[in-house]
Amino acid sequence: MFEGGITLTEPTASRLEEARRLASLCAAATCISGSMIAHVGHGATLEQNMPRFLMRLGSRYEHLIMRTINFLANREFIYRNPTLKRITDWISDKVMSVTNGEVLCLAEAQEMVASIAGSGYTIATGTCPCRRARNNISDEVPNNTDMVFGDWADTYLENYPGLYARLDARQATELLEDFDRHGFIHQVYGFRGKEGAAYVMCNCDPSVCIPLLAQKARGLQAFRKGRSVAVVAMDSCVGVAECGVCIARCPFDARSEAGGKSAVDAETCFGCGVCVVSCKGRATSLERKQGARLVYARGFVE
Ligand code: SF4
Ligand code: SF4
Repeated sequence: MFEGGITLTEPTASRLEEARRLASLCAAATCISGSMIAHVGHGATLEQNMPRFLMRLGSRYEHLIMRTINFLANREFIYRNPTLKRITDWISDKVMSVTNGEVLCLAEAQEMVASIAGSGYTIATGTCPCRRARNNISDEVPNNTDMVFGDWADTYLENYPGLYARLDARQATELLEDFDRHGFIHQVYGFRGKEGAAYVMCNCDPSVCIPLLAQKARGLQAFRKGRSVAVVAMDSCVGVAECGVCIARCPFDARSEAGGKSAVDAETCFGCGVCVVSCKGRATSLERKQGARLVYARGFVE
């Protein structure tokens, strides 16, 4: 019986039940086909749940956000004044609880972009927002190090058609190798600590990266450590006096001299691998930390 008090005969009720079942099946089929259209590949899924209008705004004005962080990080008076420091730290904590990065080594970065491309998502690259924020475009090192994925990449291609270009898997992996040779740090930025929520792989020039400078100078937790730690075969190290490249290049100040050779402070090391590619004596390698796991790159990297 309906709420209105109309009594249905048995055949009418069963026809209605059948119609209801059919409607549910249609709704389920629509959902499944919709998700298949949105994700045409067969691999892992990028968890990019940010509303499209926020993606448009974020990608359009990211360099201005970077400029603001740079401005705040460089204002000494803020950090000398306890109240201003507390307010700035509070805002930084809030922002970093929404978005931050995780460091990948070259092999992980390459595996990730191959997997993303294999899953049918867009990959594009364009000029690093930190460079744009600082008006620091280089003649010597690559500028187009901002590697964006999925819907986030599509919004960049819409917003900056002249600045961003689409990449296939081979182009993306080759570019990563080139960035690595230049001593750039691969790090994936995501949102809200959600697994697989990867939006961008920054390939940071340590002398330009604003979040890195804010992290080192002001303790901003811009990105977390990767899964690896650098280890040194002391017999192969040619010595700091003759070489010392790793100490000069380590973006996190995790290398120092010990008995003429170069040692690693495992607690400080982020596992970026910058010291591996530049090691003269091939003495440095990366070792996987026990129990370490990736969050934003999860699903795309074994
Ligand atoms: S020692 Fe420094 S350069 Fe080497 S992996 Fe660790 S953080 Fe990176
Ligand atoms: S780069 Fe390699 S060889 Fe050179 S000091 Fe560092 S560990 Fe030793």
